[in-house]
Order: sequence, then structure tokens, then C-alpha cells
Amino acid sequence: MASKMKLKDQHFLVVIFHGQGHINPGLSFAKRLAKATGAKVTFSTTVSNHRLMFPSLTSPDEEITDGPITYIPYSDGYDNGIKWFIDDPIEYHEKFNQVGRATFSSILDNLAARGWPVTCIIYSMQMHWVKEVALERGIPTAFHWVQSARMLGLYYHYLRGYHDLINSHIDDPFFVVSLPHLPQMMIKDMPPFFMQSIDETFKAVFEILLLTIESSLKPGKDGSKPMILINTFEALELDALKCIEEADILPIGPDIAMLIPDGNNIDISRGYDLFKVDEKAYINWLDTKPENSVVYVSFGSIATMSKKQIEEIQCGLKESGQPYLLVLRKNNREAGVELEEGENSMVLEWCNQAQVLSHPSIGCFLTHCGWNSTLESLTCGVPMVTIQQWADQDTNARMVVECSAGVRGEVNKEGILEAEMLRNCLEKVMGNGERGLEIRKCCKMWKEKAREAIRDGGSSHCNLNNFLEKIVRLFGPN
Ligand code: UDP
Repeated sequence: MASKMKLKDQHFLVVIFHGQGHINPGLSFAKRLAKATGAKVTFSTTVSNHRLMFPSLTSPDEEITDGPITYIPYSDGYDNGIKWFIDDPIEYHEKFNQVGRATFSSILDNLAARGWPVTCIIYSMQMHWVKEVALERGIPTAFHWVQSARMLGLYYHYLRGYHDLINSHIDDPFFVVSLPHLPQMMIKDMPPFFMQSIDETFKAVFEILLLTIESSLKPGKDGSKPMILINTFEALELDALKCIEEADILPIGPDIAMLIPDGNNIDISRGYDLFKVDEKAYINWLDTKPENSVVYVSFGSIATMSKKQIEEIQCGLKESGQPYLLVLRKNNREAGVELEEGENSMVLEWCNQAQVLSHPSIGCFLTHCGWNSTLESLTCGVPMVTIQQWADQDTNARMVVECSAGVRGEVNKEGILEAEMLRNCLEKVMGNGERGLEIRKCCKMWKEKAREAIRDGGSSHCNLNNFLEKIVRLFGPN
């Protein structure tokens, strides 16, 4: 274990891209850092997200200290929030690069002027300029990758020699690609970002993503090997973790705030939601349901579903006979969509997902396969039916099937998961057939392995300590 004294003197700045899928693992990691080191930890995300996380502040951009963490927002130039799929991502990233870089630099200056110079920066996706600013100032960094190691490996190979192979077969969804340290995958299991025909706007997001990965691989100012922290665990992705040799790859997950045991009187289980948690007594409702009986349905914080898709889902759920808890965000309710509630069904706008997945009544998660949701489901031992939408979700769905943690919902030509298909999938994972029994057995195993990884002495716990040792070494002996 690294020297406590030296670590205590550090000031970690965790700077995070906007969005719930970045904030949850980033904040969980920040709290683990504070708990492990007793050092000063500052968490910084966009002004728009800060305002949602702390809605009752007197001034919306106010700095706040809550427990071990100080929260100071930076501006991405969109202080009233970006509207995904509506605002132009090309313009967004241009502004993000300028305004983000400038406001982030002022945070570093202000903290130094107050006598709290930042000694290590942990930054997330799409934020290549953080690395550039840190290099200029000689501050050590680690890149915080909040998707799977497989996903990072795929992008890495795309950047390092496999671009032409993938691009020359991009129109054949069934073409099988073999990449070092990754299982064979078909083109259809890869991120839609690879498709050449993809919309210009997605291209812009993809280019920034690749740029951030490329810049994360640059050595430190003193020539030190770059560090990448990944929200995954060794038992799940041992091979994929070997894809990148030019960086120290440190799997430190699963980073789920409510799973971190309490310590140093720090309440580390509390997270911050960008959406208002529904006031309905959903946990009480779950308490009335038999063990492993409820289907929990959620599509994360960004994905949107058509009216037709919601109708098919509700129909399939009803026909399955299982009780269900459906989360449909306010901004994911197409005009005219009818939501049915009764003794066996409840519809929410937002919930505490980790708490729901930990409830013994949950028997299946119909998920869009965002990486956090996938990891949370594995960590809670809940079998999945996937209804993947974009970005890394096809690849995650493929992994769910490979590790026998669920089944993939196959969509029709219109991209809709039909009621009958859903009913069949639910029967497969929740029924008493051979497949269902196998899936449930594997889910139990993943639950154990995921929790083992973050326990004291577990692989992710040791990797966090390795990371801290490296930070101390970068500062030389006391
Ligand atoms: N989440 C939540 N309540 C909900 C729906 C989602 O707390 O009602 C959380 C979920 O636990 C996860 C995050 O929101 O940590 C969504 O991240 P994910 O990577 O799964 O998907 P994204 O929103 O990035 O598409």
C-alpha cells in the first residue's frame, strides 16, 4: 500500500464529461479515492449537470463541499444543457474544446491561488484537451474509461492498423473480424460509429472519441507511461485488458457508489441524479412481489424509444404474465404513448437503479445495454434481455450473450423488438428451461466475481492501490 502521508497531501481533480453514464462511475471513483487516501478530491462536471445535481443552490454555479468531495463546475458553453440528437454535435464539440479548456484552466489556476494546487487529474471521454492542459502544466493524469475494456480495445485496434480491414467489410453485417486479445466479432456487433454511411453528426462524436483515446496514450511530461482506469474487472475481461501495451491499464470496477462499503464516516453510497427520482413508492411495491418475478425495464439516460416500440414492449410484458417496473423518462415519452399501470405494473420517470437491481424481487432487466446498466446488472446477478440502441450497446449486448448473462432481443426490419420476441426472450431467461437455469447460474457467478473484485484484496481494489502507488512515485520520495 502506498505511503498514506504522501497520498494525503495530494489533490485529485476528477473532471467528467456531462451525462449520467459518466457522472455515476466518475463520482463513485472520486469517493473511493477520498476514502482510500484521505486526500483532497475535487469533482468537476459541466455547469448544466452541476445545476441538476444540486438544484437547491443559492447560485446555480456555486462551489459546494459535501462530505469528502468538493464540487466545482466547468462550462462546456452549453450551461442550459445540450439536447442530444437535436443540438449539432460538431458545434458542440468546437465550443466544448474552447470554453471547456478555458474554464477548466481557470479552475486549475484558482485552486492553485487558494493554496490547493491540483496534483493529479482523472478525466473522462471526449475531453482530449484536459490531457493537453495537464501536459503543459506537468500535472500527472489518468484517463477514466467508462465503457468496457473490449470497447476500448476495439477502438484501439481501429486506430492501430485495423481501420482498413473493418472499413472494407463495413457493409457486410455478418463478416467476422478477428482482433488481437478480443473474441471474434461480426461487424453487426461493432459500434455503429464504424459505419461509413453514418450521419455527419455521429462522425463528429466518433472523431473526438478517437482523438481522446489517442491523446490518452501520450506519455507524461516526464516520459512516464500513460494510465487508463477502466470501469470493469479482471475476471470479466482478462483478455481484452491486454489489448493496449503502451499504457498501464487498470481495471478498477465495478464502480457503483452504493456497493462501496462505508468508511471514515464518509457517506459514499449517495449519488447525484440528473433526473428527478419518481416519488412513487416503488420499493414498497417491489416488496409485495415474489422473488425473481419482476421485469425491470429501463433505457438509461439518453436513448429514446418510439411509441410503437413502447407499445410492443408493454404488450410483450403483459403477455409474459410477469409483473414489471418500467422506467420511461419524461423526455422519452412520444406524444400519444399510453402507459398502463395496474396491480402488476408500475411506470416511473426515474428511479435509483442500483437499488432496484439489488431488490430480491427483480428477475430480469430489459436493458438498452449502456455499460453502467450492464455492469450493474452483472454485479446484482440479474439476467438481462437486451434492447441495444447505439454507441457501445451492440458490443455490450454481444458480451452479455457470450458470458451467459442473458439473451439478445432481435429486432425486426424496422428496428422494433416485437412483443412476441420479447415474450420468448423473457421465457428463456426467467423460465425453467435449460437455458434459463444456465443463465441464472452464470449470473450468480458474475455477481460473486464482481463483488470479489472490489473487496479489500480483490483485483480492482489492488489496481486502485497500484494507481495510487504510481501517483506517489511520480512525485518522488518524501
Ligand atoms: N439510472 C438510474 N435510474 C434510472 C435509469 C438509469 O439511476 O431510472 C442510472 C443507471 O444506474 C446507470 C446510468 O443511469 O448508472 C445510465 O448509464 P448507462 O451507461 O447504463 O446508460 P446511458 O445513460 O449512458 O445510455
